[in-house]
Amino acid sequence: MTTPIDRRSVLAAGLAASAAAALGRRSDAAPAATSASTRPPLDGPVAIASGNGLKTVELAVERMRAGTDPADAIVEGVGLVEADPNDMSVGYGGLPNADGVVQLDSSVMHGPTHRAGAVACIEGIMHPAQVALAVLKQTDHVMLVGEGATRFARELGFPVQDLLTDRARQAWLRWRASLNPNDDYLDPDQQIHSDGEKEIPYTTGTIHCSAVDASGRLAGCTTTSGLSYKIPGRVGDSPIVGAGMYTDGQIGSAGATGRGEAVIQVCGAFSAVREMENGATPTEACLSVLKRIADRTTRPHLLDENGRPNFDVVMYAVRKDGAYGSASMFGNREFAVCDARGARLERTAGLFER
Ligand code: ASP
Repeated sequence: MTTPIDRRSVLAAGLAASAAAALGRRSDAAPAATSASTRPPLDGPVAIASGNGLKTVELAVERMRAGTDPADAIVEGVGLVEADPNDMSVGYGGLPNADGVVQLDSSVMHGPTHRAGAVACIEGIMHPAQVALAVLKQTDHVMLVGEGATRFARELGFPVQDLLTDRARQAWLRWRASLNPNDDYLDPDQQIHSDGEKEIPYTTGTIHCSAVDASGRLAGCTTTSGLSYKIPGRVGDSPIVGAGMYTDGQIGSAGATGRGEAVIQVCGAFSAVREMENGATPTEACLSVLKRIADRTTRPHLLDENGRPNFDVVMYAVRKDGAYGSASMFGNREFAVCDARGARLERTAGLFER
């Protein structure tokens, strides 16, 4: 499913790379880095991902070292998580919407050509990131949604299958039974054949991966099953270019996980890349987006007793020179990174102290 980016793109990439080299030098003059994650110019590919993406970044870097285009490399990398039935926030095994249907969102962006592809509310396709990449490579559009996205994938030969695992179905049934004590579904602990499991998981998951190869070619990808038990048709930030993912081939790439509604409302990933363009380190750029979210969150049900957001958002960013960073509302969450020092988990910076 992953055909290499075409020759026109490669030529464009060369042009973009020259322009970027100039910009890269400018960003070297940025304020002194405060992040421990800021590193000297590229000594090989760098990939960064959410905490569930350790294997993703490892595979993406391995592929980029072998010469694979960064967009292809990261889409293959996130595919490991999309196919994992135990990750209930992405792809196969993801928690379904309120109707018990797994609806997936994904977007991909290729820095050298500034092309983007996305799918939203796609059903029955295990690898929505591959479909988003196909939209990028094979169409003149950026985003396909719902039935059209599924049909597009089917026509390309993607297998259509039921993505609802038994574990996710049982979680959804418990959620539905617990909704209303007066409806005719008995609460889980009243049911005769209850398996005794009472927990109703709500995932904050998703995988975002941003990467830059040794020659400074950037790409970003986000893929998710979205918020658990969401209203059917709800689209989160992940497939929205500029919200849950954005890549500028001359500057850097960024993405988000967590409460998508908040990320959409501040154009999160786009804002992070713009911050880097204006001289922020990746970590500073992530923190700045989180601050914008916090400052603009006013609805009481979204605030804690201290007036801070009661939800989390994690931002990830990679700069063209390989500097990277991540931040979350309250810090100390894990994110994955792979570079010349190998694949590892690091801790996010925090906007607030707990
Ligand atoms: N950002 C995703 C969404 O809003 C969910 C998540 O990352 O937990 O769909």
